Amino acid sequence: MILLNPKQLDRPYHDERSAEVMRDLVAFFEAKGKTKLLEDYYDRGWYADFVDYQREHRLFATMCTPEGEGAADGRWDTWRNCEFAEILGFFGLQYWYVWQVSVLGLGPIWMSENAALRKQTAEALETGGIFAFGLSEKDHGADIYSTDMVLSPDGDGWRANGRKYYIGNGNEAAVVSTFGRFEGEDGKDGYVFFGADPRRDDYRLVQNVVASQNYVSEFELADYRVEPEDVLHRGRDAWNAALNTVNIGKYNLGWASIGMCTHALYEAITHAHNRVLYGNRVTDFTHVRRMFVEGTSRLVAMKLFALRAADYMRSASAEDRRYLLYNPMVKMKVTTQGEQVIDLLWDAIAAKGFEKSTYFGQAAIDIRALPKLEGTVHVNIALIVKFMPNYFFNPETYPPIAKQDEPRNDDFLFDQGSTRGLGQIRFHDYQQAFAASDIPNVAVFAEQTEAFRQLLAEHPPGPDQMKDVDLLLAAGEIFALVVYAQLILENAEIYDVDRDLLDQIFDFMVRDMAKHALTLSLQPSSTEGQVAQCQRMMRKPVEDTARYQRVWENHVLPLDGAYEMGA
Ligand SMILES: Cc1cc2nc3c(=O)[nH]c(=O)nc-3n(C[C@H](O)[C@H](O)[C@H](O)COP(=O)(O)OP(=O)(O)OC[C@H]3O[C@@H](n4cnc5c(N)ncnc54)[C@H](O)[C@@H]3O)c2cc1C
Repeated sequence: MILLNPKQLDRPYHDERSAEVMRDLVAFFEAKGKTKLLEDYYDRGWYADFVDYQREHRLFATMCTPEGEGAADGRWDTWRNCEFAEILGFFGLQYWYVWQVSVLGLGPIWMSENAALRKQTAEALETGGIFAFGLSEKDHGADIYSTDMVLSPDGDGWRANGRKYYIGNGNEAAVVSTFGRFEGEDGKDGYVFFGADPRRDDYRLVQNVVASQNYVSEFELADYRVEPEDVLHRGRDAWNAALNTVNIGKYNLGWASIGMCTHALYEAITHAHNRVLYGNRVTDFTHVRRMFVEGTSRLVAMKLFALRAADYMRSASAEDRRYLLYNPMVKMKVTTQGEQVIDLLWDAIAAKGFEKSTYFGQAAIDIRALPKLEGTVHVNIALIVKFMPNYFFNPETYPPIAKQDEPRNDDFLFDQGSTRGLGQIRFHDYQQAFAASDIPNVAVFAEQTEAFRQLLAEHPPGPDQMKDVDLLLAAGEIFALVVYAQLILENAEIYDVDRDLLDQIFDFMVRDMAKHALTLSLQPSSTEGQVAQCQRMMRKPVEDTARYQRVWENHVLPLDGAYEMGA
């Protein structure tokens, strides 16, 4: 089974330490138990027990120290990061968050040439340190060009003045990687990343801006002395470090979503299948059963896509930057699919989903966060539409990429280089994945995709439409769905996914495509030719009741009682 079950950890690792890290992580939560987990969640206290436990078991030291920087068992290995993030999400987004913002905080450090600060960081990881990424500011949101964290010259160094907002771990981080600009230096040449220390008096912790176990800080630097040795990056390098770090970090959001949905699914099916109303199981209602079949199919698709995206991330190089399309999609597509999975399950279990004794109650709230963090869905769609022309009309031949599960350090992630030239990146031909499949709903989906390609070729958006963000977002959703389908198909082959389940996945993909086509056609600025093409995309999936029944019996029903967290 492709879904995580913490009681049966069976994901293959080539080294014992990786498997041990996963077991240790699960052991913390199982020993803590569900009652205490939920009590702490609703009491909103800082999770010192988890931070202490990860220190004792060197979890972050192993997972977050790149090879050669310190810890002998350390490497940055996306293959194992996937499951680490999935397990954290499975037990609670708050535990994932303390790791995630550490990942982000470490990005500019491991990308830096400041060897002394890297050494200090490796030592801090060994002694259980957590980290923080100080990019956002209260007034500027996604507009990081406008930073008001200003460094003014002062002897050999500088004085930093300004505030940061929404900075996770800003209360306890060993280092807060902080983004700002040098006074009087305009444009990208003026940017700077430096390490700030929350223990110093001139670092003022203002508040936790959220009511949760996470500490999402507002902090102020007032005449904070920055020495040359505190500087991580200057000028364009600082800008690139910010964006390249987010490239690494945003990938993990999909895994948090996958973990949360998986735990919620176990709880939901176990509740619904064992609840009897009017003499029948709740899962005998046809609409409830459909919610579970669709929720499970959507979740498996999320995982297949995210796993395949990791293959491209791990094999990326300066010559193969396809991951820059797949990564933002793990962020925006997988996390929005996560919301849909929770919505489906919640409709099926209704009142149960509000109970404070369920994991579901917290998942239902926290699942909403992921599409909004590290760039909203809109920002990520706006990013990926740049890839659309080359993706559809200018394919490139690349050597095949196999499953990337070897135990090696992902060096390139900390050496991604310039963030420019996205429009020049080329992709392998998506049609190959469609052509290789004889699944009925894949064939329908391929026809819908071809209709969209023709829309772009024969009725491309005019100059005014190119400025219409709503229209671009609607087209971007369709593009994202095609890419999603392509990687799911590639991975279904690698993981030998049952063809019934794959057909069921493409059942909802066909319906999603039809809905997005309707949305695009209803845009005020859509033209007659575009509307006609959209209508060709509004197709029904191929119905097969026997297949649907088999998916229920073979893939959904076995989840009943398959996992229950210890009390
Ligand atoms: C719980 C939490 C934890 C966080 N942790 C951290 C952290 O540790 N470190 C850190 O630096 N930040 C952190 N953030 C900040 C987070 O990354 C920002 O919330 C995010 O970047 C979006 O900014 P915003 O919410 O202010 O939205 P805004 O940027 O104000 O956006 C407003 C609206 O405009 C749209 N928009 C903005 N730009 C574009 C664009 N280019 N194209 C299309 N639409 C656009 C958005 O989609 C949105 O609908 C955290 C936030 C939260 C809530």
